[in-house]
Amino acid sequence: MAFADAHCHLGSRQFDQDRSEMIARMLAKDVRKAIIICCSEHDLGHGRKLRDMYPDFRLAISIHPQDLEEEHDEQRLIDLKAAVLASKADMIGETGLDYYSHPHTREYQQHFFRAQLEMAAELHLPVDIHSRRATRDTIDILKQYPVTGIIHSYSGSVETTREFVKMGYSISFGASVLFPGSRKPAMVIAAMPTDRLLIETDAPFQSPLMNHRHEPADIIAIYEAIARIRGISLAELERSVEDNFDRVFAR
Ligand SMILES: [Zn+2]
Repeated sequence: MAFADAHCHLGSRQFDQDRSEMIARMLAKDVRKAIIICCSEHDLGHGRKLRDMYPDFRLAISIHPQDLEEEHDEQRLIDLKAAVLASKADMIGETGLDYYSHPHTREYQQHFFRAQLEMAAELHLPVDIHSRRATRDTIDILKQYPVTGIIHSYSGSVETTREFVKMGYSISFGASVLFPGSRKPAMVIAAMPTDRLLIETDAPFQSPLMNHRHEPADIIAIYEAIARIRGISLAELERSVEDNFDRVFAR
């Protein structure tokens, strides 16, 4: 058995000083499965090396909706496809819509979201979805493409969860369950079908602690909180999440 981090940026510059120590810390905690999200050339260079070193790591590549430049983006799509093929990526992501950070570029974001979903469909790859203040549009667009995958860092309602699950998606929860008084995620997690629940850190981001760099090794605290919410043992949760992780990549 192993713990699985369904979304982490292990190629991030924030790990440049101590990447191998960070990996050693996660392996020591039995966090042996991970999806490495790469949204830049820098991150992909490191992510690819790690995926090649550790057979249970998966590689995801994309253009992040927050990184659209409005100049060379069409070329970046062409480059993305080449990188996905050259590095034998396991997934396209994270891709999606962020109306919180960039509310003025909705249509532009949608164009690149659609292009990446099309790419995933063509290459038969799962997708990792970033959706912030854009639930309705995310669902409407996803419905139009024959793909499935993961909804990352989920914070939606029980009703929205049902829609994503019906469409074949798994739902990944992060450190927000650790915030005091976080009753909404607890309700949603309690109502989740066992076979679609995933857990992530989004490391180095989304740490529950101020001024702390999040690491995959920290995921155990999130597992423990979710096991408590669901009233099951940590081992039981570990087993089912590991199965769910593997199922995302089963062809
Ligand atoms: Zn992320």
